[in-house]
Amino acid sequence: MARSFDVIFIGAGPAGYVGAIRAAQNGLKVACIDSWKNRDGTNAFGGTCLNAGCIPSKALLESSELYHRAREEFAVHGIRVGEVGLDLAALQARKAKIVTGLTAGIKALFQANGVTGLPGRGRLLASGKVAYSPEGGTSEELEAREVVLASGSEPIPLSAAPFDGVAIVDSWGALDFEAVPKRLGVIGAGVIGLELGSVWRRLGSEVVLLEALPEFLPAVDTQVAKEALRHFARQGLDIRLGSLVTEAKVSGKKGPVLVRYRKGTGEETLEVDRLVVAVGRRPRSRDVLAEGTEVRLDARGFVEVDDRCRTSRAHVWAIGDLVRGPMLAHKGSEEGVMVADLIAGRNAEVNYATIPSVIYTAPEVAWVGKTEQALQKEGTPFKAGSFPFSANGRAKALEAAQGFVKILAHRETDEILGVHIVGPAASELVAEAVLAMEFQASAEDIALTVHAHPTLSEATHEAALAVDGRSLHAIQKKKAD
Ligand code: FAD
Ligand code: NAD
Repeated sequence: MARSFDVIFIGAGPAGYVGAIRAAQNGLKVACIDSWKNRDGTNAFGGTCLNAGCIPSKALLESSELYHRAREEFAVHGIRVGEVGLDLAALQARKAKIVTGLTAGIKALFQANGVTGLPGRGRLLASGKVAYSPEGGTSEELEAREVVLASGSEPIPLSAAPFDGVAIVDSWGALDFEAVPKRLGVIGAGVIGLELGSVWRRLGSEVVLLEALPEFLPAVDTQVAKEALRHFARQGLDIRLGSLVTEAKVSGKKGPVLVRYRKGTGEETLEVDRLVVAVGRRPRSRDVLAEGTEVRLDARGFVEVDDRCRTSRAHVWAIGDLVRGPMLAHKGSEEGVMVADLIAGRNAEVNYATIPSVIYTAPEVAWVGKTEQALQKEGTPFKAGSFPFSANGRAKALEAAQGFVKILAHRETDEILGVHIVGPAASELVAEAVLAMEFQASAEDIALTVHAHPTLSEATHEAALAVDGRSLHAIQKKKAD
């Protein structure tokens, strides 16, 4: 007889594994199938995020930032350390240990919550059953009342620069370099390009980013993007906007790589030792659906869902990178929780208006809500207040007094519509803004809230005061009335 579950999740990334745990907490009988394979052939839960995304990239960002600070900034603090050396193997081993610790943690969480973790491939069949193919084992058909598709995304390949896994790599490859490339090229100055470009720049590479668009980070508040670009350029990231790659040719087996690209009307070339292609990710929707499931995909291959992640087929849901919206781990996790609660008959929703975004560079870039350019475009009346970290005591103590906090509030109601931060610990500071927006707070609500001194969060407090021209530690043109 076929094994039967209340819910089967296909995919154990941050969308699927979190949803599976919540579904089990809700008293449901849950299985979670995942086909992730490490380079050594072992299976692991956690998906892209834990194995080859959020976690390893942040481990490398942290180590490379420390290395950079030890070399460039310790002397400013009066600390003499002699020659600072790099042990890349140890740095990579630390990263790997963090990853295996966290992925093993998911296995333990599955066990503790009674989730049946099934390594191998899952596929929704036309019958509504799920075909499960374990690695090297016999396939079986599983029955489930509800199926949740959470198969995530994969890097978009570029025909002009096909991956060879050695000289031309995707983001996973760029996390695993065993030597610091002398010259590193990155196609795409988006989130991955900037984060991984920063890692290898800090570790000593000459980094050139080729970005097709003429504008830098168009989804980010224009003022923030401009400030961030200034700092990245100062750090030596050579960001070439309006550069469309037409060909990348690898010499021999290991490079170098000769990249040709169009810039304006001219053609330029660039020689690098390693080339990373980071031009976005696409949903992994093909493998997970058999013929005739009646689950509709959109033109770009995303599974079509409504605001509660219901697909076009009853009892089939889809979450995470596989569906519309930002490709972010926390967005996927919240969708997993929502679906698990809805299946259990609870009321649940995701507030898509308050999902924070972060770019983990130095300075960090973080935001929630609408940008100034979006508000202008839609004709919403707003007022803005900002405060620079150069006037924040804690930022100065940290030797990181760069950037600012900017708050946009409705001109009449004072409701916060967007918060945009470029500066130290922006990823942490944005949480206050998310909470404020979740509670539909006004800028005055933040202005009236006591913030500890001296903290970076005082910059948020001051930006809220500045919305009304009442900043206390910056000279504002506008006077309080
Ligand atoms: P995934 O994490 O992709 O997981 C899907 C899982 O499903 C995978 O394990 C896959 O093997 C499995 N699967 C696929 N098909 C099948 C099948 N047929 N059967 C069984 N299993 C299947 N986001 C952030 O929010 N913060 C960050 O700092 C961040 N950093 C990133 C850095 C990098 C380098 C990359 C590449 C991404 C980063 N992201 C970050 C994005 C984040 O990783 C994704 O948004 C997130 O992993 C999506 O979660 P998911 O569960 O939808 O999919
Ligand atoms: P992205 O969309 O952030 O950036 C891709 C960039 O490549 C864009 O600027 C695009 O204009 C450019 N591009 C596209 N085609 C090009 C071409 N032919 N030549 C040159 N440039 C080209 O995508 P990404 O950086 O690959 O990241 C993928 C996803 O992963 C993102 O959606 C992001 O949400 C997620 N991610 C998030 C984080 C984070 O939250 N900190 C970190 C890494 C990745």
